[in-house]
Amino acid sequence: MLNFTVGPVQSNEDVLKIGAQSAPYFRTPEFSEIMLENERMMNKFAGAPVGSRTVFITGSGTASMEAAVMNLLDKDDRALVINGGSFGGRFCKLCEIHAIPYTPVLLEAGHALTAADLAHFDGSDAGYTALLVNIHETSTGVLYDIDLISDFCRRNGLFLIVDAISAFLTDPIDMAESGIDVMITGSQKALAVPPGVSVMVLGPRALERTERIDSRCMYLDLKDALKNGERGQTPFTPAVTTLLQINARLRDIDAHGGPESEIRRVRELAEDFRGRIVDLPFKLFSESPSNAVTSLYTEEISAKDIFTALKDEYGIWICPNGGELAERVFRVGHIGNLRTEDNITLVDVFRDYLHKRGI
Ligand SMILES: *Cc1c(COP(=O)(O)O)cnc(C)c1O
Repeated sequence: MLNFTVGPVQSNEDVLKIGAQSAPYFRTPEFSEIMLENERMMNKFAGAPVGSRTVFITGSGTASMEAAVMNLLDKDDRALVINGGSFGGRFCKLCEIHAIPYTPVLLEAGHALTAADLAHFDGSDAGYTALLVNIHETSTGVLYDIDLISDFCRRNGLFLIVDAISAFLTDPIDMAESGIDVMITGSQKALAVPPGVSVMVLGPRALERTERIDSRCMYLDLKDALKNGERGQTPFTPAVTTLLQINARLRDIDAHGGPESEIRRVRELAEDFRGRIVDLPFKLFSESPSNAVTSLYTEEISAKDIFTALKDEYGIWICPNGGELAERVFRVGHIGNLRTEDNITLVDVFRDYLHKRGI
Protein backbone atom coordinates (compact mmCIF):
# COMPACT_ATOMS: atom_id res chain seq x y z
CA MET A 1 0.00 0.00 0.00
CA LEU A 2 1.13 3.54 -0.75
CA ASN A 3 0.11 5.75 2.17
CA PHE A 4 -0.95 9.39 1.65
CA THR A 5 -2.87 9.71 4.91
CA VAL A 6 -1.98 12.06 7.75
CA GLY A 7 -1.06 9.32 10.15
CA PRO A 8 0.11 6.75 10.70
CA VAL A 9 2.41 7.44 7.75
CA GLN A 10 5.24 5.62 5.97
CA SER A 11 8.49 5.22 7.90
CA ASN A 12 12.01 5.12 6.49
CA GLU A 13 14.28 2.05 6.47
CA ASP A 14 16.17 2.98 9.67
CA VAL A 15 12.94 3.34 11.61
CA LEU A 16 11.58 0.05 10.22
CA LYS A 17 14.76 -1.78 11.25
CA ILE A 18 14.37 -0.63 14.85
CA GLY A 19 10.77 -1.82 14.77
CA ALA A 20 11.89 -5.31 13.76
CA GLN A 21 13.92 -5.74 17.01
CA SER A 22 12.62 -6.88 20.39
CA ALA A 23 12.07 -3.97 22.75
CA PRO A 24 15.09 -3.63 25.07
CA TYR A 25 14.85 -3.36 28.85
CA PHE A 26 14.56 0.33 29.67
CA ARG A 27 15.51 0.95 33.32
CA THR A 28 19.11 1.37 32.28
CA PRO A 29 21.56 4.29 31.98
CA GLU A 30 21.78 3.57 28.24
CA PHE A 31 18.05 4.10 27.68
CA SER A 32 18.06 7.15 29.97
CA GLU A 33 20.80 8.68 27.83
CA ILE A 34 18.63 8.25 24.71
CA MET A 35 15.64 9.82 26.46
CA LEU A 36 17.68 12.80 27.63
CA GLU A 37 18.92 13.26 24.08
CA ASN A 38 15.31 13.06 22.82
CA GLU A 39 14.41 15.82 25.27
CA ARG A 40 17.34 18.04 24.21
CA MET A 41 16.52 17.63 20.52
CA MET A 42 12.79 18.26 21.02
CA ASN A 43 13.52 21.45 23.00
CA LYS A 44 15.84 22.63 20.25
CA PHE A 45 13.54 21.74 17.33
CA ALA A 46 10.57 23.45 19.02
CA GLY A 47 12.55 26.64 19.65
CA ALA A 48 11.69 26.20 23.33
CA PRO A 49 12.81 28.99 25.70
CA VAL A 50 15.61 28.36 28.21
CA GLY A 51 14.37 26.27 31.13
CA SER A 52 11.77 24.35 29.08
CA ARG A 53 11.21 20.63 29.53
CA THR A 54 9.90 17.89 27.24
CA VAL A 55 7.91 14.88 28.40
CA PHE A 56 7.08 11.80 26.37
CA ILE A 57 3.68 10.33 27.08
CA THR A 58 2.80 6.82 26.00
CA GLY A 59 -0.55 7.31 24.30
CA SER A 60 -1.70 8.90 21.05
CA GLY A 61 -1.75 12.67 20.55
CA THR A 62 -5.02 13.04 22.40
CA ALA A 63 -3.34 11.78 25.61
CA SER A 64 -1.15 14.88 25.60
CA MET A 65 -4.10 17.14 24.75
CA GLU A 66 -5.87 15.71 27.80
CA ALA A 67 -2.73 15.91 29.96
CA ALA A 68 -2.44 19.61 29.04
CA VAL A 69 -6.03 20.37 29.99
CA MET A 70 -5.84 18.38 33.25
CA ASN A 71 -2.42 19.50 34.49
CA LEU A 72 -2.19 23.07 33.24
CA LEU A 73 -5.70 24.48 33.62
CA ASP A 74 -8.17 24.53 36.51
CA LYS A 75 -11.62 25.81 37.38
CA ASP A 76 -10.29 29.36 37.93
CA ASP A 77 -9.19 29.57 34.30
CA ARG A 78 -11.30 30.86 31.44
CA ALA A 79 -10.16 29.37 28.16
CA LEU A 80 -10.75 30.41 24.58
CA VAL A 81 -10.76 27.43 22.25
CA ILE A 82 -10.34 27.91 18.50
CA ASN A 83 -12.81 25.45 17.01
CA GLY A 84 -12.79 25.05 13.24
CA GLY A 85 -13.12 21.29 12.99
CA SER A 86 -13.01 17.98 14.80
CA PHE A 87 -9.73 18.61 16.61
CA GLY A 88 -10.91 21.99 17.90
CA GLY A 89 -14.06 20.19 19.01
CA ARG A 90 -11.89 17.71 20.91
CA PHE A 91 -10.28 20.50 23.00
CA CYS A 92 -13.81 21.79 23.78
CA LYS A 93 -14.90 18.34 24.88
CA LEU A 94 -11.82 17.96 27.09
CA CYS A 95 -12.54 21.31 28.76
CA GLU A 96 -16.11 20.14 29.38
CA ILE A 97 -15.08 16.79 30.86
CA HIS A 98 -12.52 18.41 33.15
CA ALA A 99 -14.82 21.30 34.10
CA ILE A 100 -12.59 24.05 32.68
CA PRO A 101 -14.72 27.12 31.87
CA TYR A 102 -14.26 27.84 28.17
CA THR A 103 -15.65 29.75 25.21
CA PRO A 104 -15.37 28.29 21.71
CA VAL A 105 -14.29 30.58 18.88
CA LEU A 106 -16.30 28.87 16.16
CA LEU A 107 -14.99 28.97 12.60
CA GLU A 108 -16.63 27.66 9.47
CA ALA A 109 -14.93 24.50 8.16
CA GLY A 110 -12.13 25.33 5.73
CA HIS A 111 -11.94 28.99 6.75
CA ALA A 112 -8.85 30.78 8.02
CA LEU A 113 -8.76 32.48 11.42
CA THR A 114 -8.89 36.25 10.99
CA ALA A 115 -8.38 39.24 13.28
CA ALA A 116 -12.16 39.78 13.08
CA ASP A 117 -12.77 36.36 14.67
CA LEU A 118 -10.74 37.41 17.72
CA ALA A 119 -11.71 41.10 17.86
CA HIS A 120 -14.74 40.38 20.01
CA PHE A 121 -12.50 38.88 22.72
CA ASP A 122 -9.73 41.48 22.55
CA GLY A 123 -9.45 43.49 25.77
CA SER A 124 -12.54 41.69 27.04
CA ASP A 125 -13.35 41.98 30.73
CA ALA A 126 -14.57 38.36 30.78
CA GLY A 127 -11.34 37.31 32.51
CA TYR A 128 -9.88 35.02 29.87
CA THR A 129 -6.66 33.36 31.01
CA ALA A 130 -5.74 30.84 28.31
CA LEU A 131 -6.07 30.04 24.63
CA LEU A 132 -6.10 26.54 23.14
CA VAL A 133 -5.54 25.98 19.45
CA ASN A 134 -4.81 23.13 17.05
CA ILE A 135 -2.49 25.25 14.93
CA HIS A 136 -3.14 22.96 11.98
CA GLU A 137 -6.79 21.80 12.05
CA THR A 138 -5.96 18.52 10.33
CA SER A 139 -9.59 17.63 9.66
CA THR A 140 -9.95 20.50 7.17
CA GLY A 141 -6.30 21.22 6.32
CA VAL A 142 -6.45 24.77 7.65
CA LEU A 143 -3.26 26.22 9.12
CA TYR A 144 -4.04 29.08 11.48
CA ASP A 145 -1.94 32.25 11.59
CA ILE A 146 0.40 31.77 14.55
CA ASP A 147 1.50 35.45 14.50
CA LEU A 148 -2.10 36.61 14.83
CA ILE A 149 -2.67 34.22 17.75
CA SER A 150 0.65 35.02 19.37
CA ASP A 151 0.04 38.81 19.28
CA PHE A 152 -3.48 38.34 20.61
CA CYS A 153 -2.25 36.18 23.52
CA ARG A 154 0.57 38.60 24.41
CA ARG A 155 -1.81 41.59 24.36
CA ASN A 156 -4.33 39.81 26.56
CA GLY A 157 -1.87 37.97 28.82
CA LEU A 158 -3.13 34.51 27.84
CA PHE A 159 -1.42 31.20 28.52
CA LEU A 160 -1.01 29.60 25.08
CA ILE A 161 -1.45 25.85 24.49
CA VAL A 162 -0.69 24.78 20.92
CA ASP A 163 -1.58 21.36 19.55
CA ALA A 164 0.99 21.17 16.76
CA ILE A 165 0.50 17.43 16.38
CA SER A 166 0.35 17.58 12.59
CA ALA A 167 2.27 20.88 12.18
CA PHE A 168 5.54 20.07 13.93
CA LEU A 169 8.19 19.49 11.22
CA THR A 170 5.79 20.53 8.43
CA ASP A 171 5.21 24.23 9.13
CA PRO A 172 7.48 26.58 11.11
CA ILE A 173 6.92 26.68 14.84
CA ASP A 174 9.04 28.53 17.37
CA MET A 175 7.87 28.55 20.97
CA ALA A 176 10.11 31.39 22.17
CA GLU A 177 9.37 33.64 19.22
CA SER A 178 5.60 33.04 19.37
CA GLY A 179 5.24 32.96 23.15
CA ILE A 180 3.90 29.41 23.06
CA ASP A 181 3.73 27.92 26.56
CA VAL A 182 3.03 24.33 25.55
CA MET A 183 3.61 22.59 22.26
CA ILE A 184 2.21 19.11 21.64
CA THR A 185 3.07 16.65 18.90
CA GLY A 186 2.71 12.93 18.23
CA SER A 187 4.82 10.09 16.88
CA GLN A 188 2.67 9.07 13.91
CA LYS A 189 2.52 12.39 12.05
CA ALA A 190 5.62 14.10 10.61
CA LEU A 191 7.91 12.30 13.05
CA ALA A 192 6.90 9.36 10.86
CA VAL A 193 7.25 6.53 13.35
CA PRO A 194 4.41 4.25 14.52
CA PRO A 195 1.66 5.63 16.78
CA GLY A 196 1.98 5.29 20.55
CA VAL A 197 3.92 8.29 21.85
CA SER A 198 2.92 11.90 22.17
CA VAL A 199 5.28 14.68 23.11
CA MET A 200 4.75 17.81 25.20
CA VAL A 201 7.25 20.64 25.28
CA LEU A 202 6.56 22.76 28.36
CA GLY A 203 7.85 26.31 28.71
CA PRO A 204 8.61 27.98 32.08
CA ARG A 205 5.03 29.24 32.60
CA ALA A 206 3.67 25.75 31.94
CA LEU A 207 6.15 24.23 34.40
CA GLU A 208 5.04 26.74 37.00
CA ARG A 209 1.40 25.69 36.41
CA THR A 210 2.25 22.00 36.94
CA GLU A 211 3.53 22.95 40.42
CA ARG A 212 0.38 24.83 41.28
CA ILE A 213 -2.34 22.60 39.80
CA ASP A 214 -3.19 19.09 41.02
CA SER A 215 -4.06 16.84 38.10
CA ARG A 216 -6.13 14.16 39.88
CA CYS A 217 -4.91 11.53 37.44
CA MET A 218 -2.15 9.00 37.96
CA TYR A 219 -1.18 8.02 34.42
CA LEU A 220 -1.16 11.54 32.94
CA ASP A 221 0.34 13.32 35.96
CA LEU A 222 2.90 15.73 34.51
CA LYS A 223 4.60 16.37 37.87
CA ASP A 224 5.47 12.68 38.01
CA ALA A 225 6.53 12.59 34.35
CA LEU A 226 8.76 15.65 34.83
CA LYS A 227 10.38 14.25 37.98
CA ASN A 228 11.19 10.93 36.30
CA GLY A 229 12.30 12.73 33.17
CA GLU A 230 15.08 14.48 35.08
CA ARG A 231 16.96 11.16 34.99
CA GLY A 232 15.77 10.19 31.51
CA GLN A 233 13.03 7.88 32.73
CA THR A 234 9.21 7.65 32.69
CA PRO A 235 6.93 6.70 35.62
CA PHE A 236 5.56 3.64 33.81
CA THR A 237 6.71 1.36 30.98
CA PRO A 238 6.79 3.57 27.89
CA ALA A 239 6.47 2.53 24.23
CA VAL A 240 10.20 1.77 24.29
CA THR A 241 10.59 0.87 20.61
CA THR A 242 8.69 3.95 19.45
CA LEU A 243 10.95 6.14 21.60
CA LEU A 244 14.03 4.57 20.00
CA GLN A 245 12.50 5.25 16.59
CA ILE A 246 11.84 8.87 17.57
CA ASN A 247 15.50 9.11 18.56
CA ALA A 248 16.60 7.82 15.14
CA ARG A 249 14.34 10.31 13.34
CA LEU A 250 15.36 13.31 15.43
CA ARG A 251 19.06 12.48 14.95
CA ASP A 252 18.55 12.03 11.23
CA ILE A 253 16.74 15.37 10.90
CA ASP A 254 19.44 17.04 13.02
CA ALA A 255 22.16 15.65 10.77
CA HIS A 256 20.39 16.84 7.60
CA GLY A 257 19.79 20.53 8.29
CA GLY A 258 17.30 20.40 11.17
CA PRO A 259 13.58 21.15 11.11
CA GLU A 260 14.00 23.89 8.48
CA SER A 261 15.14 21.45 5.82
CA GLU A 262 12.53 18.86 6.83
CA ILE A 263 9.83 21.55 6.54
CA ARG A 264 11.19 22.56 3.14
CA ARG A 265 11.07 18.94 1.93
CA VAL A 266 7.41 18.58 3.00
CA ARG A 267 6.51 21.98 1.51
CA GLU A 268 8.07 21.07 -1.84
CA LEU A 269 6.12 17.80 -1.92
CA ALA A 270 2.87 19.64 -1.14
CA GLU A 271 3.52 22.28 -3.82
CA ASP A 272 4.48 19.63 -6.34
CA PHE A 273 1.22 17.76 -5.70
CA ARG A 274 -0.91 20.91 -5.89
CA GLY A 275 0.74 21.85 -9.18
CA ARG A 276 -0.10 18.46 -10.70
CA ILE A 277 -3.84 18.53 -9.94
CA VAL A 278 -4.84 21.95 -11.29
CA ASP A 279 -6.81 20.42 -14.18
CA LEU A 280 -8.55 17.75 -12.09
CA PRO A 281 -12.13 18.34 -10.90
CA PHE A 282 -11.04 18.96 -7.29
CA LYS A 283 -10.96 22.32 -5.53
CA LEU A 284 -8.70 23.28 -2.64
CA PHE A 285 -10.95 23.18 0.43
CA SER A 286 -8.70 25.08 2.83
CA GLU A 287 -8.42 28.87 2.63
CA SER A 288 -5.07 28.63 4.32
CA PRO A 289 -3.47 25.27 3.52
CA SER A 290 -0.72 23.73 5.62
CA ASN A 291 2.22 21.90 4.11
CA ALA A 292 1.15 18.69 5.83
CA VAL A 293 -2.03 18.00 3.89
CA THR A 294 -4.05 19.08 0.86
CA SER A 295 -7.77 18.92 1.53
CA LEU A 296 -9.83 18.69 -1.64
CA TYR A 297 -13.48 19.41 -2.35
CA THR A 298 -15.32 17.43 -5.01
CA GLU A 299 -18.62 18.65 -6.35
CA GLU A 300 -19.78 15.79 -8.57
CA ILE A 301 -17.93 12.70 -7.29
CA SER A 302 -18.35 11.13 -3.86
CA ALA A 303 -15.22 11.70 -1.78
CA LYS A 304 -15.99 8.51 0.10
CA ASP A 305 -16.08 6.57 -3.15
CA ILE A 306 -12.68 7.97 -4.17
CA PHE A 307 -11.22 6.84 -0.84
CA THR A 308 -12.68 3.32 -1.15
CA ALA A 309 -11.79 2.88 -4.83
CA LEU A 310 -8.18 4.00 -4.30
CA LYS A 311 -7.84 1.62 -1.37
CA ASP A 312 -9.45 -1.42 -3.00
CA GLU A 313 -8.57 -0.99 -6.67
CA TYR A 314 -5.20 0.76 -6.58
CA GLY A 315 -3.55 -0.03 -3.22
CA ILE A 316 -3.42 3.62 -2.15
CA TRP A 317 -4.61 5.18 1.08
CA ILE A 318 -5.77 8.77 1.12
CA CYS A 319 -7.68 10.26 4.07
CA PRO A 320 -11.47 10.26 4.12
CA ASN A 321 -13.40 12.89 6.07
CA GLY A 322 -16.12 12.29 8.62
CA GLY A 323 -19.42 13.94 9.43
CA GLU A 324 -20.98 16.46 7.08
CA LEU A 325 -17.93 16.60 4.83
CA ALA A 326 -17.74 12.84 4.24
CA GLU A 327 -19.14 12.92 0.71
CA ARG A 328 -17.47 16.16 -0.40
CA VAL A 329 -13.98 16.33 1.10
CA PHE A 330 -10.96 14.04 1.10
CA ARG A 331 -7.36 14.74 2.09
CA VAL A 332 -3.95 13.91 0.68
CA GLY A 333 -1.07 13.97 3.16
CA HIS A 334 2.49 14.99 2.36
CA ILE A 335 4.15 13.66 5.50
CA GLY A 336 6.13 10.48 6.05
CA ASN A 337 8.49 8.75 3.71
CA LEU A 338 7.08 10.01 0.37
CA ARG A 339 8.81 11.26 -2.76
CA THR A 340 7.85 13.19 -5.90
CA GLU A 341 7.49 9.87 -7.79
CA ASP A 342 4.73 8.92 -5.35
CA ASN A 343 2.86 12.13 -6.24
CA ILE A 344 3.14 11.18 -9.92
CA THR A 345 1.72 7.73 -9.15
CA LEU A 346 -1.18 9.19 -7.19
CA VAL A 347 -2.11 11.73 -9.86
CA ASP A 348 -1.98 9.02 -12.57
CA VAL A 349 -4.34 6.97 -10.41
CA PHE A 350 -6.74 9.93 -10.03
CA ARG A 351 -6.80 10.30 -13.82
CA ASP A 352 -7.43 6.59 -14.36
CA TYR A 353 -10.18 6.59 -11.72
CA LEU A 354 -11.90 9.60 -13.33
CA HIS A 355 -11.47 8.21 -16.85
CA LYS A 356 -13.12 4.90 -15.87
CA ARG A 357 -16.09 6.81 -14.54
CA GLY A 358 -16.34 8.90 -17.68
CA ILE A 359 -15.27 12.15 -16.04
C1 LIG B 1 -3.62 13.53 14.76
C2 LIG B 1 -4.00 14.71 15.54
C3 LIG B 1 -4.32 14.62 16.91
C4 LIG B 1 -4.21 13.36 17.71
O1 LIG B 1 -4.96 12.34 17.35
P1 LIG B 1 -4.64 10.91 17.97
O2 LIG B 1 -5.53 10.01 17.18
O3 LIG B 1 -4.99 10.96 19.41
O4 LIG B 1 -3.17 10.67 17.75
C5 LIG B 1 -4.66 15.77 17.57
N1 LIG B 1 -4.70 16.96 16.97
C6 LIG B 1 -4.38 17.09 15.68
C7 LIG B 1 -4.41 18.46 15.09
C8 LIG B 1 -4.02 15.98 14.92
O5 LIG B 1 -3.71 16.12 13.63
